[in-house]
Amino acid sequence: MANDLNKDVINVISLLDNKLKCQEKDTVLSFPQFLERLGAQPAKVLRNVFQMFHDMFYYYIHEEDDILNDPESINYKTIKCDKLFVDHADNPFFADLPLANRLVRLADSFKEGAQQNKLYIFIGPPGSGKSTFLNNLLKRFEEYAHTNDGQNYEVFWKLDLKKLGASNDGFLEIPCPSHDHPFLVIPKEHRREVLENLLSSEERTRILYKKEYEWVLKDIPCTICSSLFDALSSRLESPKEIFDMIYARRYNFNRRLGEGISVFNPGDPPSKQFLLTNEVIQKELSNIFKDSKLVEYIYSRYAKTNNGVFALMDVKGVNEKRLIDLHGIISEGIHKIEDHEENVNSLFITVMNPEDKEKIADIGSFTDRIIEINVNYILNYTEEVKTYYQSFGRQIDRHFLPGVLENFAKIIISSRLNPDSDAIREWIRSPRKYEKYCDDDMLLLKMSLYSNIIPSWLEDEDRKTFDKKMRRKLFDESEKEGREGFSGRESINIFNDFYATFRKMSRNGNGFGHDKLITMDDVKNYFMKHVDRREKIPRGFIDSIIRLYDYNVMEEIKESLFNHNEERVSKDIQNYLFASNYDIGERQLCPYTNENIEITDNFFESIEHNLFRKSVTPDSRKNFRDEIAGKVTICLQELDLAEQSILDTPIYKELYSIYMNNLRENIFEPFLKYTAYENAIKDYGKPKYEKLDSRVKEEVSFLIKNLVARFKYTLEGAKQVCLYIINKNAY
Ligand SMILES: [Zn+2]
Repeated sequence: MANDLNKDVINVISLLDNKLKCQEKDTVLSFPQFLERLGAQPAKVLRNVFQMFHDMFYYYIHEEDDILNDPESINYKTIKCDKLFVDHADNPFFADLPLANRLVRLADSFKEGAQQNKLYIFIGPPGSGKSTFLNNLLKRFEEYAHTNDGQNYEVFWKLDLKKLGASNDGFLEIPCPSHDHPFLVIPKEHRREVLENLLSSEERTRILYKKEYEWVLKDIPCTICSSLFDALSSRLESPKEIFDMIYARRYNFNRRLGEGISVFNPGDPPSKQFLLTNEVIQKELSNIFKDSKLVEYIYSRYAKTNNGVFALMDVKGVNEKRLIDLHGIISEGIHKIEDHEENVNSLFITVMNPEDKEKIADIGSFTDRIIEINVNYILNYTEEVKTYYQSFGRQIDRHFLPGVLENFAKIIISSRLNPDSDAIREWIRSPRKYEKYCDDDMLLLKMSLYSNIIPSWLEDEDRKTFDKKMRRKLFDESEKEGREGFSGRESINIFNDFYATFRKMSRNGNGFGHDKLITMDDVKNYFMKHVDRREKIPRGFIDSIIRLYDYNVMEEIKESLFNHNEERVSKDIQNYLFASNYDIGERQLCPYTNENIEITDNFFESIEHNLFRKSVTPDSRKNFRDEIAGKVTICLQELDLAEQSILDTPIYKELYSIYMNNLRENIFEPFLKYTAYENAIKDYGKPKYEKLDSRVKEEVSFLIKNLVARFKYTLEGAKQVCLYIINKNAY
């Protein structure tokens, strides 16, 4: 029975067999097949490493649409990078929007072309995760190169030995160690004509005259490929026979083998072998051409990352020397080995701490070849919270009242921002008007804008002056922020410490027992206790964020207590506006609501008591009403009756909002004042609750239900947040 393989296994093997055969068929193309593919998909086939990188970015990121028709847009976008840095990563990296936007700009610059060698430095303070960033980026690049979208080709020679008069039959396979693009084996002077024949007219203009494709006409193949081509020309009768021996092989980037991607760590020993070769291939070549000098199969390790990525992880240890060695290559684009000149066109990357910058400042003429990209600490609270999820699991959410975890993240981020911002000072002339919504330094405004959200509370005049120039200035400041304050590592430690303390307290039955959720008071107490940590947070920020939190929560409670029919309120206001022009004692049909109204003092009073905060004399009510009557007359004159109704008038809007606000306050005040509510909330859900006064019970049930349904509280959370507010107001 041992030979009877399971049927499933047999199926699997045949499946693999088919798949691998297909793959193989796709990996090596004859030169005509390659040209055919080039003609069909030029943008995909004609790519160098820079264009590949650009395409890889857009393959993985997700851009959300810009605010439509915003004429002041500076193309700062909401970009999701999870597929690039987070999904399936051993160590996820979380890119905030400022960084994501910098990366997209970088990717776009790769496509602008004229790629003279440059050194791209990802510069970031310790604990910013820049090594993780680069590792994940390169891993994704490698993966991309193996997808259908990411296919790319390199020259691959298959010399027909018989045709070349060798004693043995078969083929000599010679890979190009420099991963030359197959199109480059076509002699330079004929390339334009080849493309003109292969491409449609539209693509012709796109490719032949664009800077990003300059390399297609300009670059030359490596010395091995060109000497091989020359040697074959003198040996074979027609060029067609040469092209019969040239193939295009799928360029398989492989970091572990250092093919197309090499990453050097500071501790990696310097390579001893300067010249690389392949003795078997060299011997065969010497045999065929009867001359060992005609085609020399030698190259350096830089060849292996030609048209690929050469990366240094930190400028320390041996990497310092590696960086200095790169200097010549980067400025000349050429690497000399013995009497050969090797072309090196790579994407040179290094990550670096800011303090190592002086190491490259000394290397003359390097500076104009350097592009710096800041990888700073996270400035978006949504991304910051994700790092907590990553370390402690999503379930941490369940232990916080809604909004508190986000506020914790905002406090951490505040330590990374500069409270003294030129841009904000120039832009927001009177910050005081926003004290209900924002801290004094407007850090919360900044955080919101960095997340590409213009807060709803921002007034029109400030929206108008938030023009291109101001946006540019503000986002430029983000480049310098996130270099100080709590590092990513520190913030995880702080969160861990805070969370553990709280969990322990909660297990010991502190407060309301096991279900107690973390409140803003817990957050504040924590930072009050740890002075060294509090010192990194801008003065007053924690108090501000608590004030805003309290304000928001009170609004939620007011909303949730509010049991009025908005349509009824609207009709009452319309009736009132209409009646203000009539005398007491009359009876009129209101044309706006079609309701009959008896105009009495009681009628006026029933509405006016919600228009004033305090009780007022009948005389002042009368004066107020006369004023309204005058405004109504003016508003109606200005109204375009064909298109608008009374609901569009400023006077209606004003009264409606005053009325609603006062209604809310009138319900909210007793809620804070009477212990009956507090007790009812504490007893909610217990048998005792059922015995309470039915009015209080009804209101509390309504409140709790609304908090759960509309503001995402749990039942426990809803109770707790009410008590939090009641206690706060008792002080
Ligand atoms: Zn080559």
